[in-house]
Amino acid sequence: MKYGVRCPNMNHSRLNAPVKYCPMCGDSVNRSANGSCDHVRHAELRKNRHLFCHDCGKKLR
Ligand SMILES: [Zn+2]
Ligand SMILES: [Zn+2]
Repeated sequence: MKYGVRCPNMNHSRLNAPVKYCPMCGDSVNRSANGSCDHVRHAELRKNRHLFCHDCGKKLR
C-alpha cells in the first residue's frame, strides 16, 4: 500500500500486532500471530462491521 493512502487501522503501525490480517483492508500485518476462525467467527466479525477476517484475511461481505 502506498504511503499517504495508508489504511488507518492501528495494527499496521504495531511491531507485534495481535492479529494476522488487518480487519479493515485485509493486508497481512503479522504472520506469526495466533488465531483461528470458522464461519461462526466470521458471522460475529461481520456483525461487528469488520470488513476482513483478521485470522484468515478473507473478505466478509
Ligand atoms: Zn489495514
Ligand atoms: Zn477467517
